[in-house]
Amino acid sequence: MDPLVITVAAVGAELTREQQPGLPIAPEEVGRDAERCAAAGASIYHLHVRDGSGAPTMDIERFAAAKEEIERRTDLIIQFTSGGAASDPEEARIAPLQLRPEMATLTTGTVNFGDEIFSNPRPLVERFYLRMLELQILPEFEIFEAGMIENALQMYERHDAFHHRHFDFVLGVPGAMPAWPDAIGFLKSHLPQGATWSATGIGKSHLPVTEAAIESGGHVRTGFEDVRYITQGQLASSNSELIARVAEMSRSAGRRVASPGEARTILGLSSSKG
Ligand code: ZN
Repeated sequence: MDPLVITVAAVGAELTREQQPGLPIAPEEVGRDAERCAAAGASIYHLHVRDGSGAPTMDIERFAAAKEEIERRTDLIIQFTSGGAASDPEEARIAPLQLRPEMATLTTGTVNFGDEIFSNPRPLVERFYLRMLELQILPEFEIFEAGMIENALQMYERHDAFHHRHFDFVLGVPGAMPAWPDAIGFLKSHLPQGATWSATGIGKSHLPVTEAAIESGGHVRTGFEDVRYITQGQLASSNSELIARVAEMSRSAGRRVASPGEARTILGLSSSKG
């Protein structure tokens, strides 16, 4: 098995500092958070940004500032969200890609997201995908429902693309695919040869999904966007505490944790920072 690639989804678009005092907001806080996460074993930093008041934003300046803070302090792979918050308009979601992060997420279909709709009609997905290809940004296909795998594969074929294919199974979002015990086995059985995948369980399903991903050769995403408690009823003190927990679970299962350099090799990214 490859060493475990751990992604930290550190900020997200939903959580507030009232709910989680450790949430990094200012670019410098994001940079320091990234540094601690790297030390704890993360290799990818999945980035959303907030404005000065802590509200989610797709503002390019905020992305640029956070990216710079992370790059100055770490060798982490930076992965921008292209989803933003569920209600962000298309133009706002695509704009930060011009900063050319190494990776960006791409959700390949529309899905219920709590009481909202996370809207990803095919023309939008196609446009975001072509933009990523143009700027040589590796997409991570975000899979909230099984059909999204097929959408991603068809799009790859349609454009004669040849990048490495990496998927992230997001399980347990209210209104979307639950973290059924057989979900990971089913989803991964539909991936093409050579593809890699990670999984994240939202909220209560976080640990079972993490464990299943470690044991079945996948990779793991954790962080405040996905989980805010370290044990039942006790808030995690930081993103790095959540990373350290996953790293420890992996080592006790006999699987070591990937460095950012190893993660680049696993994901087919070039070894130097872009
Ligand atoms: Zn996200």
